[in-house]
Amino acid sequence: MKKGWEGRITNSPDETISAGVEFSRYIEPGDVFQMVGNLAAGKTTFLKGVATGIGFTGEVTSPTFTLINEYNSNPKIIHVDCYRENDLNRWINIGLPEYFTSRNIVFIEWADIIEPLLSDVQYLLKFSHMGRDKRKIEFIEK
Ligand code: ADP
Ligand code: MG
Repeated sequence: MKKGWEGRITNSPDETISAGVEFSRYIEPGDVFQMVGNLAAGKTTFLKGVATGIGFTGEVTSPTFTLINEYNSNPKIIHVDCYRENDLNRWINIGLPEYFTSRNIVFIEWADIIEPLLSDVQYLLKFSHMGRDKRKIEFIEK
């Protein structure tokens, strides 16, 4: 991750997508990002912007039931959602740690649920509601 992205307050889904596009310019292959924040705080919307910025043109949706989506951009984006699976062994068995390689960019929604597996993860994106259409996005180096 390159230095300099300071986070954003956005006033619409479109602004959150733009924030994601902007954020994508700072990402480097191998980066892993924990994403935390309540339902509808904008995690998936932000990632839509990131994927667009990296050059992925397909659909980006929360892998709530499939657990992991792979987007075939270059570098590949791995989109993880922990909301419905809190069994750490299940995550190990489906090979989550193997996605953490220098060839991928990994985003983990609801990362707080599997925190013990993520002690080496360096970056945290924190999403908060500030009003009906207003969201705060914070970037924290752990
Ligand atoms: P999460 O993945 O955190 O559950 P989503 O990105 O899927 O959240 O959904 C965010 C919801 O909030 C969408 O329905 C979106 O239209 C709405 N929304 C309203 N204002 C914003 C904003 N400023 N940024 C992102 N989403 C917003
Ligand atoms: Mg989501």
